[in-house]
Amino acid sequence: MIKFDNVQKVYPNGTTALQNIDLKIEQGEFVAIIGLSGAGKSTLIRCINKMHDISSGTLTVNDTNVSTLKGKEVRIFRKKIGMIFQSFNLITRSNVLKNVLVSSVPDLKGWRKLLGIFTKEDKIQALDALDKVGILDKAYIRVDQLSGGQQQRVALARTLARNPEIILADEPVASLDPVTAKSVMNDLKRINQETNVTILLNIHHVELALEYCDRVIGIRQGRVVYDGSSDKITQETLDEIYGRNEQAAKV
Ligand code: ADP
Repeated sequence: MIKFDNVQKVYPNGTTALQNIDLKIEQGEFVAIIGLSGAGKSTLIRCINKMHDISSGTLTVNDTNVSTLKGKEVRIFRKKIGMIFQSFNLITRSNVLKNVLVSSVPDLKGWRKLLGIFTKEDKIQALDALDKVGILDKAYIRVDQLSGGQQQRVALARTLARNPEIILADEPVASLDPVTAKSVMNDLKRINQETNVTILLNIHHVELALEYCDRVIGIRQGRVVYDGSSDKITQETLDEIYGRNEQAAKV
């Protein structure tokens, strides 16, 4: 379970990105965070795996108080949390399998990693992850020869190979065309259902969030303004999340 209790995040330059955040996300949920650019979506996601530290309040992930983690503890904690990004973050000159292996075997000694020496089990696990996202046939293709959608699937396979309990996805479909974006959302939903991994993603395509995710959290200026089922959200609430009411009032 991911639990925010009255969490605040203030960046060193004084920007308050999150205010009074209270949230509880159970294992296996598929949650979208929506809101305008600058609302705090990315900050919220990145506090969960301690890429950013919260300023006050308590953030607990599976009974671990994230703020208390230090050094090696952070590395161990992050093993259970996969992260995917808009920009895929792949080694484009290496093949697909190598990309999955290099990060799915994070404790590999430097020289083994450098020489690309992986065990049979490592390879089976990596190939299995590629199979789960439907690109097993691309295992020996260089990443820079793949489409954007295929590259995002490699990133997803790389995360899955580590058997995460939680996947955090920071705008995972923002750089994809609408059809490919839908198919990647479909993959995420299927993986969520098949493996019970918790998926928390932020997304600016509200219609994709509503179509694929079970729960939506709407953020406006660092505060939660909606938290509930995606099929119950009203147009009025969406207008509030996206600040349209005020724009209309100003006109
Ligand atoms: P979103 O993901 O919804 O676009 P962010 O979480 O990136 O929003 O940003 C929330 C607020 O925090 C914005 O005002 C942004 O400018 C600010 N912010 C984000 N990252 C930093 C940072 N590293 N230093 C200072 N301010 C930041």
